[in-house]
Amino acid sequence: MSMNMKRRTLLKVIVLGDSGVGKTSLMNQHPLYVYKKFSQQYKATIGADFVTKELQIDDKLVTLQIWDTAGQERFQSLGAAFYRGADCCVLVYDVNVVKSFEALHNWREEFLKQADPAVPETFPFIVLGNKIDIDGGNSRVVSEKKAKEWCASRGNIPYFETSAKEDYNINEAFLCVANTALASE
Ligand code: GDP
Ligand code: MG
Repeated sequence: MSMNMKRRTLLKVIVLGDSGVGKTSLMNQHPLYVYKKFSQQYKATIGADFVTKELQIDDKLVTLQIWDTAGQERFQSLGAAFYRGADCCVLVYDVNVVKSFEALHNWREEFLKQADPAVPETFPFIVLGNKIDIDGGNSRVVSEKKAKEWCASRGNIPYFETSAKEDYNINEAFLCVANTALASE
């Protein structure tokens, strides 16, 4: 390796959560990354799609390949190709919809079952409580405290409150995704 060659790392990140919580909005919203590309081919073939985003962490170039469903999380389980080789799993709920918070448990279980990581106890998850902008926070039904307790009791999963609409805390969340996945490599 030449002296000035930077290390490149590709991380596969998958985004899960109930339909409507804002998964697609979150991954399309943030401007941190220099490069963004959709692969339409995957959408057609496996009902999922990814965006590719690059960021620099210290002297490392990190490429996040962030996978999103094409909406079929409502109807059926996602195919094996969606889960295969994931380095980090982002679980999203809507702070205004209690059902979407309660569903985090099942999404996490489904991920562990399908992706079958070598060490499930330490696999990097991140939880995002989205749509905190709605009604100035007055319609939220899941408190930050409750969400943090859920995360703490599952091996201290990092937790972020976000708004895809107002582009709030999304860069921070995806930087954490990259750092957490790198740390567990
Ligand atoms: P997905 O089904 O999880 O991919 O959710 P979408 O990204 O399609 O979002 C569902 C709806 O919620 C859309 O109408 C979005 O515009 C809206 N939405 C997503 N994120 C936010 C947010 O942070 N705040 C508000 N107010 N609306 C949002
Ligand atoms: Mg979507």
